[in-house]
Amino acid sequence: MSKYDVAVIGSGPGGYVAAIRCAQLGMKTAIIEKYSTLGGTCLNVGCIPSKALLDSSHHYHDAVAHFEEHGIEIPGEVKVNLEQMMKRKSSVVSQTCDGVKFLMDKNKIDVIHGVGSFEDKTHIKIEASEGESETIEAKNTIIATGSKPSNLPFIELDKERVITSTEALKLKEIPKHMIVIGGGVIGLELGQVYRRLGAEVTVVEFMDRIIPIMDSALSKELTKVLKKQGVKFHVSTKVKSVERNGDEVIVKADDKKDKEVELKGDYCLVSVGRRPFTDGLNAEAAGVELDDRGRVKVNDHLKTTADNIYAIGDVVRGVMLAHKAEEEGTFVAETLAGQKPHVDYNLIPGVVYTWPEVASVGKTEEQLKEEGVKYKEGKFPMRALGRSRASGDLDGLVKILADEKTDEVLGVHMIGARTADLIAEAVTAMEFRASAEDISRMSHAHPTFAEAVKEAALAATDNRALHV
Ligand code: FAD
Repeated sequence: MSKYDVAVIGSGPGGYVAAIRCAQLGMKTAIIEKYSTLGGTCLNVGCIPSKALLDSSHHYHDAVAHFEEHGIEIPGEVKVNLEQMMKRKSSVVSQTCDGVKFLMDKNKIDVIHGVGSFEDKTHIKIEASEGESETIEAKNTIIATGSKPSNLPFIELDKERVITSTEALKLKEIPKHMIVIGGGVIGLELGQVYRRLGAEVTVVEFMDRIIPIMDSALSKELTKVLKKQGVKFHVSTKVKSVERNGDEVIVKADDKKDKEVELKGDYCLVSVGRRPFTDGLNAEAAGVELDDRGRVKVNDHLKTTADNIYAIGDVVRGVMLAHKAEEEGTFVAETLAGQKPHVDYNLIPGVVYTWPEVASVGKTEEQLKEEGVKYKEGKFPMRALGRSRASGDLDGLVKILADEKTDEVLGVHMIGARTADLIAEAVTAMEFRASAEDISRMSHAHPTFAEAVKEAALAATDNRALHV
């Protein structure tokens, strides 16, 4: 029987990063993955394929809607070749997954394919799809089994017309009308992909605004921009049935006045969140308890109810994001090596990769109000930047919230071109507990989108923005 210092169950961004860090720290490490490729949800059916399709559809949309104004003429009609777009996406995914395999080999991590289930605290049985099985012994185990799309109890996901994000990433045709249930990150990103490719897209959201976990200024601006792009919205609307009639999907919902809304489309994307995944893990055999929402229970050190078993990523409490899973993977590896690592959960940025991109870190204005914190605000519109004019990306804004007395930055919220990258500046500033004035006194290259961060910081300190 093979023996390891650490076994990691699941090879998503949480699991594979934990395995690399364990190996770097000298632990004999195995990683167990039930699928034939490594990388988990993020690389196979999440972050990477969705961004590949967002980028391809963005190029197409630019060619159709913006090339002419830039003086670029294309003789003949610009057409989408969906098969090629999907082929490119698959090749991006497989190259990225191969990259993880390379990293496992480089770090001398044993990769074992099959479903891992606990026999007891230190033994894990791995059953391959061909029915073969082996048992390994591990002093410590890290559970990184991730999540799966969740559903509403009355919806039958046929995965053909009533689909989750997994199927939406590999459609063989462009929908005529895609109804998206759920105005969160995944629904909006995939909705925008198909809208750009020519589909009619209608988003139905239960809450009173899209991306409800983010600052309301961002929801408002994103709604405005997506509406301009032709996306339709029904907010404060509760879906009550989804039915198939041949190739037609009929969605019925009640709006906030209890009036029935009926929508007919050819595809319905159900993007109502994700649920932690522990099926087949046999967690009880190791004394690992789940909470009432099916997540693996962990303490502040990410230790489960079993002494030698830890859990990270989507399968535990907190936001379901790849970089959060990665931080937790490193955290557990370093804890096992006797170090005293730290994860600042307040500073995990959230991003929506629509265009304009939406990015956020720290407290929202709604949270500060709820917590009774006195704050001041600085806002700057993207359209006032030279860089935005040059590129034609005029939508969006940066909003900085700072403590009213100390000027410490408490939250940064932005929507606009490249804000997914710009948010890193805000994370760095907040990690070092910068004040808005600190940011406002740093030189930002001109012309860049990043100047909006400096200007918003100037606005937050005595209304000193220069270009509005
Ligand atoms: P996962 O990536 O889910 O990996 C878990 C792995 O464990 C899987 O490979 C699974 O097969 C394996 N496994 C499960 N049980 C067993 C078992 N018993 N034995 C062996 N193997 C097992 N996040 C971002 O930060 N940025 C984004 O842009 C982004 N975009 C997304 C887009 C979409 C469409 C989706 C669906 C998600 C997106 N996410 C994004 C979320 C991100 O994918 C997850 O937060 C991240 O993958 C979680 O990592 P993880 O390691 O916890 O689990």
